[in-house]
Amino acid sequence: MQKMFINGEWVEAISGMTRNIINPYNQKIIATAAEGNEQDAKRAIASAREAFDNKEWAFIPAIERGAVVQRIASLIERDRHELAELESLDTGKTVEESLGDMDDIAGVFRYFAEMAGKDGGAIIDSPIPNSMSRVVHEPVGVCGQITPWNYPLLQASWKLAPALAAGNTLVMKPSEITPLTSVKVFELMAEAGIPAGVVNLVLGPGDSVGAELSENAEVDLISFTGGIHTGKKIMQAASSNVKNLALELGGKNPNIVFADADFDTAVDQAMNAVFFHAGQICSAGTRLLVEESIHDDLVEALVERVKNIKLGSGFDASTQMGPLISKEHLSKVVEYVENGKKEGVTVAVGGGRPEEPELQNGFFYLPTVLVNCTTDMRVVQEEGFGPVVTVEKFTTEEEAIRLANDSIYGLSGGVFTNDIAKAERCVAKMRMGTVWINDVNLYFPQAPWGGYKQSGIGRELGKSGLEEYQETKHIFQNLKPEPMNWF
Ligand code: NAD
Repeated sequence: MQKMFINGEWVEAISGMTRNIINPYNQKIIATAAEGNEQDAKRAIASAREAFDNKEWAFIPAIERGAVVQRIASLIERDRHELAELESLDTGKTVEESLGDMDDIAGVFRYFAEMAGKDGGAIIDSPIPNSMSRVVHEPVGVCGQITPWNYPLLQASWKLAPALAAGNTLVMKPSEITPLTSVKVFELMAEAGIPAGVVNLVLGPGDSVGAELSENAEVDLISFTGGIHTGKKIMQAASSNVKNLALELGGKNPNIVFADADFDTAVDQAMNAVFFHAGQICSAGTRLLVEESIHDDLVEALVERVKNIKLGSGFDASTQMGPLISKEHLSKVVEYVENGKKEGVTVAVGGGRPEEPELQNGFFYLPTVLVNCTTDMRVVQEEGFGPVVTVEKFTTEEEAIRLANDSIYGLSGGVFTNDIAKAERCVAKMRMGTVWINDVNLYFPQAPWGGYKQSGIGRELGKSGLEEYQETKHIFQNLKPEPMNWF
């Protein structure tokens, strides 16, 4: 039974409701979780408000806050295997991928722990004689944090670590279908010595718990990672009290391959871009743009390799790709590809469900390459969030950039070429928050992460990831107070 964590105590939902958590590999029930609603969210918000207003956490020396955040990192490292297995049970991804996630997560806590208190207030050169002017950073207050199911604990860490380092209190709502590692990390945060009320966890659906967090006037900031439609609703709800807002939304990310690129690397990375975690990655390189002169050879080489991707249980060391997260999501991916077929794409490989009997109980979809795609097609414009890559052709550098930018999204993109000047010309024109040259999908705590256009607002990670959780205060002091006698 997975409980919620409110005001330092593990509690069930006020309504007593629960939800079964399903293993996407075999549809077996792996846990039962408390199913909270608006009432539970209100309780948690009140607890975070009280903890912020009594200033116990915000006012302890930043170096002590940093030490607690360091302890959380150490506990994550201690329980790395257990956390990775929970993540793989809950999401279906391979344990190897989950272990990598846990290392990244510990790194995120360490990075922000070190930034606690080193966030650089500044002395301003005051133009007024006999005065002093300075800027300080303070916590925003009570933070609502809503996370998705694809990288449950990784996305949570990008929000928890900076919020705590900056001295905020918070209420987190993980995706209702993948709560296991979030519950565990709240246990670890309590063990690390975070005072009661500073961190609160409410489990339950988006339209009740999530909506309350977004709407409630006692919440000062809402940080959301998830789909664009939910993001728009949250943005509207957050206007209730003009909350600070951070949105990490979807992507439809182009990966441009020029004819002069290292061919084998480009093929290999085209696969890495889209087939890790069955394509359920916001930054997946789902749009492959290939220079016409190498298009047919590249597609042929890609198809040969994609055929050999091994599907299976994330707990089997030979598995390269696990299932999709849920029955509902599998239906969406099926519909997305079927729609592409109606639009006239050709399925070069995949395009359906696997036939192996041992995969029938899981939500598997074959790794899929679609060719004869054009930018105006829905299959090229919409985020499918599955193991599906669309391939388009281009002939000139200008065309490649125009196609790459032809999207409502702007999360990430890739360029493969051995001509560095060409790469730099492309990068300068690509309207995305992250661009990789001759690589894909790399992120680390030091570098900011977020989207242009409808991929989001704000940046997580890096210095800006901390700044999202801070208010900036200008303090002006008159060193020689005397009457002005204006009136
Ligand atoms: P989702 O939008 O369906 O759900 C995300 C979270 O929002 C869940 O916790 C859900 O319960 C909650 N939610 C749903 N309705 C809500 C509402 N009305 N008010 C408040 N909260 C609500 O997204 P998902 O399907 O869980 O995740 C996949 C999406 O997340 C993809 O679009 C992907 O691109 C995006 N994503 C983006 C990033 C990034 O860094 N930009 C990272 C990971 C995932």
